[in-house]
Parts: sequence; C-alpha cells; structure tokens
Amino acid sequence: MTPRILLVEDEPSIAEIVDFALTSEGFQVIWRTLIGEAETELTVTPCDLAILDLGLPDGSGLELLKRLRRSSEMPVLILSARNAELDRVLGLELGADDYVTKPFSPRELAARVKAILKRTVRPQPDADTPDQRPLANGLVVDEIRAVIRFRNQRLDLTRYEYLLLKTLLAQPERVFSRAQLMDQVWPDPAASFERSVDTHIKTLRAKLRDIDPDHDPIRTHRGLGYSIRERDGFS
Ligand code: CA
Repeated sequence: MTPRILLVEDEPSIAEIVDFALTSEGFQVIWRTLIGEAETELTVTPCDLAILDLGLPDGSGLELLKRLRRSSEMPVLILSARNAELDRVLGLELGADDYVTKPFSPRELAARVKAILKRTVRPQPDADTPDQRPLANGLVVDEIRAVIRFRNQRLDLTRYEYLLLKTLLAQPERVFSRAQLMDQVWPDPAASFERSVDTHIKTLRAKLRDIDPDHDPIRTHRGLGYSIRERDGFS
C-alpha cells in the first residue's frame, strides 16, 4: 500500500520540492496550505505521516501538532524555516518525530520520512493473522470474541456448542469419545443435566448445514465419538 503523506505548507515552491522528492520515492502526497484544510483532510482520509510547516497563514504548525496529539499517534515531521532552538525543542516535546530546517536537501527529507515510517510501523491486526485464517474445512475460531465462523459467516452458537466445536477444531481428525468431549466442555458436574453431546452435535450440525448444506465438517464414529474433518469431504 502506498504510504500517504500529508504536507501542510503555504509556500508553493517548497511544497513542489517536497512533493517531487516524496512522489519519486513512491509516496502519495496530499498538499494543504492551511491548518483548517489539513484537519478536514485528516477526518476524511487518515494519513501515514504529516509534514508540518510552522508559519502557516491560519496559525502555527505547533498548534496543529498539539491538537493532533490529543487523538492521534500519526508520525509528524516539522519542516521549518525557523531554526530557533526553542521551536525545535517545543516541537519534539509536543510529540514531533523529527525536525528539518529549511533550506533542506530533498533527498535527506525523503530519507528521514522513510526512517520515521520504518520505526513507527505497527502490525495491522486483521482477518489474515495466522490464527484467524480458516482451516480447509471452512471453519475458524476467533477466541478473542468467542465466535466461530463457517465459510466466513458467524455461527450463532450456545456456550456449549461453541466449546464443543472449539474442542473438535483444536485437533482436526482426532476422534474424541463422548466422555472426552464431556470432560472438555462440561467440567462442572452441576451442569450434568446439560450433558448430552449428541444433542449438541445435532444442533451444531443444523447450524452448519444452514450455511453449507453440502458439507458436514463433523464426522460420527459409531461407538467411538466424533471428530472434525480437516478439509471438505464426504468420507
Ligand atoms: Ca510558511
């Protein structure tokens, strides 16, 4: 994905240099000349990094930085004509990630942007993290949310159905006896009246069938118990 850089700079000649330097490195540059415009832009499209000029027509870049830091961890590089020690210290104290003084080398600026992005990149949790990938049988357990999905659809399971299916899924193709499943799912003797593995397997199958009538991921082993198929099949 192309990193998006928000450039807040009111001098077109400087904006052009920055735009050229970053675009040639493969970044997408969004240029705004006012703090107000920049803030509007950020509410519409999140950016990976912002480059802020300090002297802007509608205020100081430091003010923008201060407001940004209340709600955002977006990396910020200050690009200023003012080489005042105070600005630099204040900028870094307010949470800027780097400070570059004009005039600047476009290549150095691009290198610094890259360095900041490299050290601030965070892993993106999404549906493709290893334990969220569906097995070949189309099932995936999301333990954090205590839900199981079948063919990308969330199964509406009772607590016992969830635990039962989760137990089977932990070891595909392993045959669990009813007693083993009971121990795993109903460890509380007081819940013994609920202890009907067969009943819960039946309701589970009905829910899976609602999503995919052609494949039953659960296999019955007569006299032995149940297992979950590792992949789709009829055997
Ligand atoms: Ca300026």
